Amino acid sequence: MKIAPKRFLSPIVLPFSPVGQKKRIAIIPGDGIGKEVIPEAVKVIAAAGAEVETAQFDWGADRYLADGITVPPDGFAMLERDFDAILVGAFGDPRVKTNIHAKEILLGMRFKMDLYANVRPVRLLDAALCPLKGIEPKDVDFAVIRENTEGVYTDAGGVFKQGTPDEIAVQEDINTRKGVERIIRFAFEYCERHTKIDGSPRNRVLMCDKSNAMTYAGGLWQRVFREVGGEHPQIKSEHMYVDALCMQMVRDPRPFDVIVTNNMFGDIITDLAAGLQGGLGMAASGNIHPGKTSMFEPVHGSAPLIAGKNIANPFGAILTAAMMLRHLGFDGQTDRIEAAVLEAVRQKKTTQDVGGALGTREAGEWVAKKISHG
Ligand code: ATP
Repeated sequence: MKIAPKRFLSPIVLPFSPVGQKKRIAIIPGDGIGKEVIPEAVKVIAAAGAEVETAQFDWGADRYLADGITVPPDGFAMLERDFDAILVGAFGDPRVKTNIHAKEILLGMRFKMDLYANVRPVRLLDAALCPLKGIEPKDVDFAVIRENTEGVYTDAGGVFKQGTPDEIAVQEDINTRKGVERIIRFAFEYCERHTKIDGSPRNRVLMCDKSNAMTYAGGLWQRVFREVGGEHPQIKSEHMYVDALCMQMVRDPRPFDVIVTNNMFGDIITDLAAGLQGGLGMAASGNIHPGKTSMFEPVHGSAPLIAGKNIANPFGAILTAAMMLRHLGFDGQTDRIEAAVLEAVRQKKTTQDVGGALGTREAGEWVAKKISHG
């Protein structure tokens, strides 16, 4: 099945969709390897037989360079109004030096649609993928809940006397009571509702900060964490400074269960965590606001160095699609996708970055066939 890129809204009903209430998914492949991995994810969604309609959008560098449009007028409102979920590839293109389109589309979606919880499950599918000695899949099974709408990513600040020896640059770290409280609540609720891969309950939430140095923001996070933790006595509240956490993650990731942290620390530690899973090509994420249209994207970026060569690993995007389907209530389809990816990894039916010899399309095709034919 092939989906032709269309401008603006152009629904494409997937041929496998029978009757019934269909969920609607907006597909935005974006730039670079996003344009290669997202079609594989779409193929796999079709193979899994989820009742969905998809519409593809050409937002990205090509579109921006052609007509100067990053997000069409009413774009975000349209996504919220007309779709149940959004599947995004990646944004970033060396031809757009300012990266303005990536900022406006990706950060725009996160901020304007208020997708405040960035959820990144960290799971090791096969011991061979982990760079740490003696670590088994059961040892790497945690989730990072990253605040997604505040912190140092709000573009608050400025420069003064730029380009002179007296230059001053200020980058504000924004932390609101509302923002901190809702992400911490989300983490506790996530912990209550999710089990580990082996079916055992999650029961610990660890807040990661740098409150010994960043005392004002850290103080707010600490107070709110104590308050909200007090409402969940059955869940153990834990704390680590971000520097200590980084060291722990590469020495022994076993103690982690659910980690909640701010925007910047979450950005950094989830790349580190992706390293435990086999690299950026394996990592999935969701940008969630409960009850609203949420957006799902692989953790990797557009990777211009490897784009267009059919070598990018599509599994991060495929696992992202699976995460999206689970969010939409398609548990059976999600289980089938996750099982097929696990089997692909075990049989080394993968791209080279995780030890196989297949191309992007061939790896995606293998997973889709595994789902369809068993
Ligand atoms: P961007 O600016 O969009 O974030 P980037 O190249 O700086 O792009 P990533 O896209 O995250 O950052 O990729 C960094 C490197 O990680 C790539 O050059 C590539 O070597 C590796 N990588 C990322 N994603 C994948 C993937 N899906 N498959 C294989 N390797 C990947």
